Amino acid sequence: MLPGIFSFLKRLGFFSILVLSLVALSCSGAPEKAAQSGSGASAGEGVDRLSVEELAAMPKIDAHTHISGLALEEEAPFFAKLAEHNMKWLTICTRGMNWPRMQKMTDLAERLHPLYPEQVAWAASFNLSNWGHPDWEQAALQTLRSGFEQGAVAVKVWKEIGMELKDPDSSYVMIDDPRFDPLFDFIESRGKTLVAHIGEPRNCWLPLDSMTANNDRKYFAENPKYHACLHPEIPHYWKQIAARDNVLKKHPGLRVVGCHLGSLEFDVDTLARRLDEYPNFAVDMAARICHFQVQDREKVRNFMLKYQDRLLYGTDLAISAGSPKGASLEETLKTIEETYRKDYRYFATDEEMSVWEVNGPFRGLDLPKETLKKMFYENAEKWYPGI
Ligand SMILES: [Zn+2]
Repeated sequence: MLPGIFSFLKRLGFFSILVLSLVALSCSGAPEKAAQSGSGASAGEGVDRLSVEELAAMPKIDAHTHISGLALEEEAPFFAKLAEHNMKWLTICTRGMNWPRMQKMTDLAERLHPLYPEQVAWAASFNLSNWGHPDWEQAALQTLRSGFEQGAVAVKVWKEIGMELKDPDSSYVMIDDPRFDPLFDFIESRGKTLVAHIGEPRNCWLPLDSMTANNDRKYFAENPKYHACLHPEIPHYWKQIAARDNVLKKHPGLRVVGCHLGSLEFDVDTLARRLDEYPNFAVDMAARICHFQVQDREKVRNFMLKYQDRLLYGTDLAISAGSPKGASLEETLKTIEETYRKDYRYFATDEEMSVWEVNGPFRGLDLPKETLKKMFYENAEKWYPGI
């Protein structure tokens, strides 16, 4: 076991707001053979645009966030900040191998959702700390049943499946393990969505000097024990992707949202092939927008136009204010503000920009209004019914 291996997501960078970003790169060298990316219509003259201020004012959903701590006195300023951006948060409860932590997050989500139904939706998860016990399946189903009764719109599975959870014979348990099928069938039967963070960014399996984003390079330089490239016992990147794809294949009626660009952040063509092959698959872009910014701008833009019904805006912003290790509320609100402003500029304008994760400047994508409305709002409603 590699206890704690996944706590590496914590506090990236300066703010301890746990922008659970980074993570995941996947290893192994050569990308799959590139396929054609679609060429979407280019937004030209006469196509409606949104200014940054108009986008800020429009109703939006951040489809990947984590509320892991929020003191009572912090609720008003936090929700005022979301209101400033007309933003609703889908808070995702996660980490079944740390059941007490997840129960705490779940309790918080169940408390906040009815109090702030216009600003908080939530995704449940289930216990993995009792994996292998005879009643594991029934207990997990009961947790999901209870979560749905409390308004959960989705169920999260996390990379601990595939990279940490093991059977007694020391083999890693992968996400397409048949023991998960009854849960997936149940989620589908209740009309809910599976939200899946499986694997890691491909950079996690690459040497530091081959990584494509500075946040990944910095993190794994500082945390070699989490750098899968140095740990060949962890199933390879493409095994993680294949297992996730197998779930999509085995459960064609199950809606699946792949977190972090479905862990295929390094190449939009590779991601496009999955979207073509699995109509039940969409992705959020949480903490991976910088991976768009290191790819060819026109290629990324065409990809976003072609797959504009399958892409959900998300950030992986987290609030842990109120917990001893958390950022101050002030730091958290500042990070929220900066993250959203930066993203509005990138998607809505063609201005030259720079961010610390990416070497050198790049230009915003200047996406049409209709595409922005889908990405920032309508797709979340479609892929997470009831959100
Ligand atoms: Zn996350």
